[in-house]
Amino acid sequence: MKFLITGGAGFVGSHLADKLIEQGHHITVIDDLSTGRYSNIEHLEGHERFRLIIDTVLNEKLMEELIRDTDRVFHMASAVGVKLIMERPVKTIETIFRGTDVVLDFCSRYRKRVLIPSTSEVYGKGISVPFKEDDDLLTGSTAKHRWAYACAKTLDEFLALAHWKETRLQVAVVRLFNTVGPRQTGQYGMVVPNFVKAAIDNRPLTVHGDGNQSRCFGHVSDVVEGLVKTLETPECFGQVINLGNDEEVSINDLAKKAIAMTESSSEITHLSYDKVYGEGFEDMQRRVPSLEKAKKLIGYEPTRTLEDIINDVAGEFRETVRIESQSA
Ligand code: UDP
Repeated sequence: MKFLITGGAGFVGSHLADKLIEQGHHITVIDDLSTGRYSNIEHLEGHERFRLIIDTVLNEKLMEELIRDTDRVFHMASAVGVKLIMERPVKTIETIFRGTDVVLDFCSRYRKRVLIPSTSEVYGKGISVPFKEDDDLLTGSTAKHRWAYACAKTLDEFLALAHWKETRLQVAVVRLFNTVGPRQTGQYGMVVPNFVKAAIDNRPLTVHGDGNQSRCFGHVSDVVEGLVKTLETPECFGQVINLGNDEEVSINDLAKKAIAMTESSSEITHLSYDKVYGEGFEDMQRRVPSLEKAKKLIGYEPTRTLEDIINDVAGEFRETVRIESQSA
């Protein structure tokens, strides 16, 4: 089968490309390498079932050709990371909403099955965890730019569901909770690669706020399996489904765990949100998915723990350091 992965050089998209290649499919990746990295898919170049196109999903003429020519689409292209959203709010909103509009428009026209990833950010400041897919969404004021990401993604969800409602486009929406693993860079502020890297280098780990806020971290391999199953399951069309892991950890405990597991001598420091992101930032205290729906629809059950994640991420960093020191 032929798959188009937008954003396929990104963190999740590139793991998805690996998985689909492994399953014997033909993959086209379109990525403008804005936040994606060539090194994530370099190993696939030259493979007879792999093709990379460096361009933007906003190139409508090209997107029309690519979608017409494929069987299935994973629309993984998106602005990533809270840091980027705070620094480039216009680009964030445009990339998210326009990109999805283009993809859904051509998928609808050519009747192609498509997966639209959304994000746990849409649950916003909700406090009644675990978050269920039909819960109310509670974002903050438009003066706080963080929420632009959640709102743009919410609009993506509405548009996807509208295509299903009006013309039965085979579309599934997946809300990704914090997804981590090898190839994720700390460049966009993500906590796990930042902490693990700092711990390995014996530098201080910077916890934002008081560190009592919590998250659940899903290993990218579990999440990718969930994504693939979702698109192959007709009961998922017209549905919104949470994917991730439901093992909750405070950011303070995550920092301690990263230090202990890497046998680091790093210290933990705390920094206020204003100092990190500038004014106008609100964080969410807890974020835990209900995975009941994913379990029911696709038999989803995460198998990798936080310890597996830290080990994998640490292993990748150590390997990079080893290769760099060899070539120096
Ligand atoms: N965080 C932190 N130190 C860092 C990066 C992030 O304390 O170096 C905190 C961040 O403020 C948030 C949590 O860790 O409370 C998760 O951040 P991340 O950006 O990974 O994902 P988010 O859940 O905010 O989308």
